[in-house]
Amino acid sequence: MTLPSELLAPPILSGKRSESIIRYGDQLALKSQYLESLHLLEPHSGREMPRYRWNTPTSPTFYRIGIFAGIHGDEESGVLAAIQFLRELQINPDISKFYELFVYPICNPWGFDAGCREGASGKDLNRCFWGDHEEEDVRLLEGELRTKRFDGIVSLHTDDTSEGIYGYVNGSTLTRHLLEPALRTTSSIIPRDVRPEIDTHPAKDSMIFGGYQGILGAPEDQHPQPFSIVFETPHHAPLGKQVEAHLSAIREILSLFRVISSEGRDI
Ligand SMILES: [Zn+2]
Repeated sequence: MTLPSELLAPPILSGKRSESIIRYGDQLALKSQYLESLHLLEPHSGREMPRYRWNTPTSPTFYRIGIFAGIHGDEESGVLAAIQFLRELQINPDISKFYELFVYPICNPWGFDAGCREGASGKDLNRCFWGDHEEEDVRLLEGELRTKRFDGIVSLHTDDTSEGIYGYVNGSTLTRHLLEPALRTTSSIIPRDVRPEIDTHPAKDSMIFGGYQGILGAPEDQHPQPFSIVFETPHHAPLGKQVEAHLSAIREILSLFRVISSEGRDI
């Protein structure tokens, strides 16, 4: 796949990396009646955390899904995929049938601009959810997770130790039945990591059940729990392939969840 040149421009020519991502997303929003830029402002640092909402008023909305990328600032492919996904929605709005989608392409804006995994404080933000009250980015995202009460959460990541694509299963019992087919479909782009242990966790069929504490996810008291998927691409794979893999996984998850949930609702 070809990535738009403005997304791949070196930072030195285009200002901060986050600015070029936001500029690209905002231009898409300007041209679309379904896409809105609703960026969040971090009250103390003044940093902008990009947030986009996609909704087609012409079709009924039953499910709200959150797509999150860039909580680890040095994992570029998820960020590029999240912003490219907005473009894909414009080309093929059917992907979003029955959905209201919130896309957070850069969950750690400082880290993304610094090319650094951690946040400005030096902490791994994806270990700080629902416990650490000091991290501004985490608090903003917790507010989103609490108020939006997502039916599904997809987090995009890249792993420099993995040999292929894999994912973490959390949230509702439905989650593994979404991730498994998404991995199968996406393995035509990048093969799966089939090792019995991935990222220090026992894995089965390229899936890890549970995993780390404090990762981005729904509040514990949300019932029913949403499906919650962390999708990982291997860092060694070409960037374009990784982006393509993220997009394939998102498409597959949305398509399956619509089918499974619609059957339950008798739509
Ligand atoms: Zn990560």
